[in-house]
Amino acid sequence: TVKATNVHKMFGDLHVLKGVDLIVEPGTVNVILGPSGSGKSTLLRLINQLETLTAGSIEVNGELMGYKHVKHNGEDMLQTLNEKEVAKQREHIGMVFQRFNLFPHKTAIENVMEAPVHVAKVPKSVAKEQAMAQLQRVGLADRADYYPMQLSGGQQQRVAIARALAMNPELMLFDEPTSALDPELVGEVLKVMRQLADDGMTMIVVTHEIGFAKEVADQVVFMDGGVVVEQGGPEIIDNPTSPRFSEFLSHVL
Ligand code: ATP
Ligand code: MG
Repeated sequence: TVKATNVHKMFGDLHVLKGVDLIVEPGTVNVILGPSGSGKSTLLRLINQLETLTAGSIEVNGELMGYKHVKHNGEDMLQTLNEKEVAKQREHIGMVFQRFNLFPHKTAIENVMEAPVHVAKVPKSVAKEQAMAQLQRVGLADRADYYPMQLSGGQQQRVAIARALAMNPELMLFDEPTSALDPELVGEVLKVMRQLADDGMTMIVVTHEIGFAKEVADQVVFMDGGVVVEQGGPEIIDNPTSPRFSEFLSHVL
């Protein structure tokens, strides 16, 4: 479960998130829609602690992100986590970005093995076997020894998904994973994501792929201007109640 409560984010004087509440149930696919600049990426980055909150709180599986409760003179207080503790919390949250962000000088399988070997200290032979299984899952077992530049954009993005899966995430965050792809490569990435959803992965997906949202999402969240304007089941895409969501949909459909 992800529980974001009254989340605010300011970049200097710019108030980007203005009190976002979001609940993500385990095993569900949650699609976030919204125009450019509405704060979608910022929300994902806050959940994954790539940014720090200005106000509000985010809990993932009951754990408060970025803070811990401490007793000080008998009083319950919040203390910010240190870098190591933050890294620990982030370990089981996988994130996939618009740009593939693979290490260019490492092969597909080496990319997938990177975190298990260097972060989780899994023995190399074990990590290799597990990485192979993840590559299989995204349909790329036969490309294990290819370098990113030898792979298509869609294949690179599938390696990026395998890499995120290698740390056994409890939650997967996708930030416009298909936006940088040539149109003919979008389908193969969405297919992998669909399969992940079928496997019961908890997912938050920022995307403009309305078809994917309609077919795969359990919850659709429409953001505009740093707030959640409308949310509900995928049926809200066909029956938006707010003018802003209607207008947005008329542009992307
Ligand atoms: P897009 O669809 O274009 O990706 P988005 O909904 O993901 O948009 P964000 O990237 O979350 O939007 O950005 C929301 C606002 O916050 C924008 O006005 C952006 O310029 C601003 N912003 C984001 N990151 C920073 C930063 N590190 N410093 C300053 N401003 C930022
Ligand atoms: Mg964005």
